Amino acid sequence: MSGLKRLAMLLLLLSLSTVTWAWALPEAQDDAPPPALKLSLALGEHNSSADVDGRLVFAGGTWQQQTADLQFELPLAADQRWVLLMARDPFNVVRVTGQDGSIQTRDFFRPAADAGLLPVGYAFTLPRDSMGQQRLRLELQGAVRSAPTPRILSEQEVLREASREFALACAIYASLVTLLIASLALYPAVRDPIFLLYSAYLATALLFVATVSGHLYALPGASVLGAMGARGFWLVILTFNVVALLTLTRFAETRASNLPWIRRLDWVVRAMAVLVLVPLLPLQVVADSLQSLTKLGWLLAMPAGILATIDGARRGVQMAVAASVALLLLLAAAAAHEAMQHGWLGDDILSRHGYQLVLVLVSVIMFVGLSSRIGQVRERLADETSARLQSDTRLRQERTQAGFAQSLQDHLRGVAEDEVATVAFRLLGEHAREVTGASAAVVVGAGYLGHDLLLVQPKGQPAGFAQYLLVARGLLRTRALDREPINVRLGGTRPDDTAGKPLIAIIPLPLVSPAWAALVLPAPDEAGFEPAMLSALADVSRQAVEKADEAYAAIQLRRTAEHDSLTGTQNRRSLDQALAREFKANASRDAGLAVLFIDIDWFKGVNDRLGHACGDLCIRSIATCLRGELRPTDAMGRYGGDEFLVLLPGRDAAAARIIAESLRNAVEDSQIYWQGEALPLTVSIGLAVRRETDREPATLLERADRALYAAKHEGRNRVCVAPAVLS
Ligand code: GH3
Ligand code: MG
Repeated sequence: MSGLKRLAMLLLLLSLSTVTWAWALPEAQDDAPPPALKLSLALGEHNSSADVDGRLVFAGGTWQQQTADLQFELPLAADQRWVLLMARDPFNVVRVTGQDGSIQTRDFFRPAADAGLLPVGYAFTLPRDSMGQQRLRLELQGAVRSAPTPRILSEQEVLREASREFALACAIYASLVTLLIASLALYPAVRDPIFLLYSAYLATALLFVATVSGHLYALPGASVLGAMGARGFWLVILTFNVVALLTLTRFAETRASNLPWIRRLDWVVRAMAVLVLVPLLPLQVVADSLQSLTKLGWLLAMPAGILATIDGARRGVQMAVAASVALLLLLAAAAAHEAMQHGWLGDDILSRHGYQLVLVLVSVIMFVGLSSRIGQVRERLADETSARLQSDTRLRQERTQAGFAQSLQDHLRGVAEDEVATVAFRLLGEHAREVTGASAAVVVGAGYLGHDLLLVQPKGQPAGFAQYLLVARGLLRTRALDREPINVRLGGTRPDDTAGKPLIAIIPLPLVSPAWAALVLPAPDEAGFEPAMLSALADVSRQAVEKADEAYAAIQLRRTAEHDSLTGTQNRRSLDQALAREFKANASRDAGLAVLFIDIDWFKGVNDRLGHACGDLCIRSIATCLRGELRPTDAMGRYGGDEFLVLLPGRDAAAARIIAESLRNAVEDSQIYWQGEALPLTVSIGLAVRRETDREPATLLERADRALYAAKHEGRNRVCVAPAVLS
């Protein structure tokens, strides 16, 4: 940034010194030129122009014509060639008729080929031997106001004047072109459209200067504009006014102003843009009013630009103060030029070209101001980069969290009901340590899924940390119920007694009150965890709770689906599945598999006599009694009504029979009371052992069922073994 400012300042100094040098150059070479000859003017009749102190003041506006007789006396010595010289004002015709009848004509809009690329004035060289009294006729035609001062100068002096104007023009063009190149070069780096607009402004400024000084018409290809005459002239000036004002409003950022009328300057720009189209209308009345229209244009543009920059300066726009001062100078210089054209001010190089120099100054100041925007663009780019980085981090975080969710799901699959919380929160602790690099992670809490929690990872590390937490359990509980992740220093007994106490992060787990739990991590340094990290940890903690809840709910659901609601033992569906599983496993292992069908005897009678509630109690009691006699690996459940099924994997007929007998005995010996009355209940048991011929579980079950039927038939309260094959 400072490099660019330095470059801009260098540019400013360069331009100013070039201009100063151009200005000073002719003075330095001044070696007493011969005095200009006094010339008397006699204006022709029927004209609207005036003679002011030897100047022809040409009002312009509409098409006008002026003739004047010029009288002067040349020295008698014939060693000089003399030239009639006039400033290059925009006349369509400048015609000089000599004493000898010779005619020389000049046209501002169609310069002669020998006028060069930078024609500087109308020069009419007098015949070689002219001396003594001279009389010339000067004829002017055109529609643009001007105030030329015809002078008779020696050829030498004309050359001197020409070189002075030439140098000045070069300096102005060089400055503007340098700025144009610099702003175009900056655009690709900055990508701020204002640099393009500023470049367009410089291009129109170049066009403007080239037009008003007539240099443009000397360029090859400018004949189209030349053919338009005064219309083209005013068109260029109006266009420059609009583009300059537009650039100034953007430079001063008028749209950001808090003054509504400054924000509406855009409308002035638009209105002026419409004015630009006027010179293109092919109407005489338009042509006649173009001069006034252009005056109106710059009378609008200059104050608007000055106000815009003053307002911009108030809002801290870079270089706006300097720009507004320079614009005031420009206004003064333009007014001086206008006054000169009316003959109110002397015709010298300052009143004629001063406004162009100030225009360069304004352009340089604007360039410096605009280049300060590069810093803003850098900031914007830096913001964009950090936003991208943030979104990358968020993406990475999301990916890690998705991975964590997946690993939770994997680890919780098939976990026992009372293991769910431990598994989920141990994983949470591991994950938290992994992403934060924390030396330890503790999950502490109470009441979740019926458990109190204190999971320390790694076990016993760091020494004392878990003890601290146990002491601070009350604080942890309060914070956990607060639901906000926080960095906090574990206090002593007094609020200020925190020296040497560890700084920790408490990340509450979103549990349903009164259950509470929190993930606690020791802070990596005295600054604690970043808020973004705390919120990421809160996210994974929420995930852990969600997944644990889901796993727990799934277990509950499975239990409902697999268990009989009356007895809490397996239901028929899950018994069938268990049998199918055993059947498959048993086929390959070739171990025994026995099934027992157990049915309560005379149960209908119990129901009828003592009611359904009593019947339910009996079913529940017998289920408990049977379960108590079996190993945990034996499947047992209510198959339906008053019927139970027991699967005895790895048992042959003899072993199964012993078990069946023990079951029958257990029921017979059980004491079931209903309203003080002991109920003598017995069961009948049908036993079947899997044979090689049993291809399906159904076959085995059917044989057990038949055995049960036999037991009933033989008098009940007994065990019957099914025959090997069905009869
Ligand atoms: P048996 O010795 O031949 O088995 O005679 P039983 O009276 O037990 O006859 P059975 O097994 O066919 O009768 C089953 C009875 O079990 C019918 C119904 O009243 C009773 N029962 C079935 N399900 C329930 C239940 O869920 N609750 C209660 N209280 N009774 C049930
Ligand atoms: Mg029965």
